[in-house]
Amino acid sequence: MANKDYYKILGVEKSASADDIKSAYRRLAKKYHPDINKTPEAAEKFKEINEAYEVLGDDKKRANYDQFGSADGPQFSGAGAGGFGDFFGGGAGGGFSDIFSDIFSAFGGGGGSQRVMEKGDDIFLNLTLSFEEAAFGVEKTITFPKIEKCSYCKGTGAKDGKEFVTCPDCRGTGRVRYQQNTMFGTTIREAGCTKCNATGKIIKEKCTYCGGKGYKKVQKTINVKVPAGIDDGQTIRMRGEGNAPEREGVNGDLNIRVAVLKHKLFVRKGTDVLLDLYLPFTKLLLGGKVEIPTLKGDYTLTIPELSPSGTVMRLKNRGIKTLNRESYGDMLVTLKAEPPKTLDKQTKKALEDLDAKIDPRSYVKYQNFLSKK
Ligand SMILES: [Zn+2]
Ligand SMILES: [Zn+2]
Repeated sequence: MANKDYYKILGVEKSASADDIKSAYRRLAKKYHPDINKTPEAAEKFKEINEAYEVLGDDKKRANYDQFGSADGPQFSGAGAGGFGDFFGGGAGGGFSDIFSDIFSAFGGGGGSQRVMEKGDDIFLNLTLSFEEAAFGVEKTITFPKIEKCSYCKGTGAKDGKEFVTCPDCRGTGRVRYQQNTMFGTTIREAGCTKCNATGKIIKEKCTYCGGKGYKKVQKTINVKVPAGIDDGQTIRMRGEGNAPEREGVNGDLNIRVAVLKHKLFVRKGTDVLLDLYLPFTKLLLGGKVEIPTLKGDYTLTIPELSPSGTVMRLKNRGIKTLNRESYGDMLVTLKAEPPKTLDKQTKKALEDLDAKIDPRSYVKYQNFLSKK
């Protein structure tokens, strides 16, 4: 390992300041850390970077290196495989450990020294609503099983949340270093202590409520505010109402998928409400008033004289509220002519007389059709 250009390895000038070297190292160590970078070159590169920083990150060693042109300068006793063990063993006293904690907390989502934050599992539930509940919004009380952080030990698993002793494996640091022998030589890796889940402490006396797990399965009842305008198949997401993680971290989310039941008269299309209104065919001819239900109460619909079957009457803002907005869809009423179910002789004769009285030319659309046939 002699005569390596450590400046080149870290990509800095010979004149680089200690801060420059530190930040170059930090950047490269993140990039090639074997936990992050799974390419075959990463392990060797990471080893090289550490080797370079072991020297250049230490003023005295850097001076030796500059003077003697190699890490094997006379003052530098720790060269070779032993060097790593030495500085990772805590003897170096340099910036290594804080750089590592920076890196690990950066990747672990922050919060605390070197612990990895976990997210609990999401919970998925179904909720069936009536047409009106979906249209107007509703508050529903739902009960479901979930994993909750134990309130007696505050999720620690220790009796009253305080019966701990320092972890003997990591001596309270939460991290352990171990040697890894690869074809490139020995690499020192740091990882969370498994005995204490990287917390640095282990439970002396277990919490009796959760049995030392720190979490518990409970039947949870919550109120869900269903917003007006929600539609079939949509999901209400409640952040943090899902399961607690097994270790320290944040709760998962609660996802409530909504199913909306059919209405006895209305059909929903987006925020519009559709109604097929069957009327006696004479009503379409003669016109008149019809009382119809709408989402905003009863409404008297005025059918104009001579309304064609299929006429759509639009009732502004009598539809469904737009989700999370103060605007409403419309109600669309389609007029449909319904013939009587039966026709007695006398009535049929009357209709035939009526038919003869109507000038065929007044059926404009029908004539148009006949002319194009
Ligand atoms: Zn507990
Ligand atoms: Zn430990």
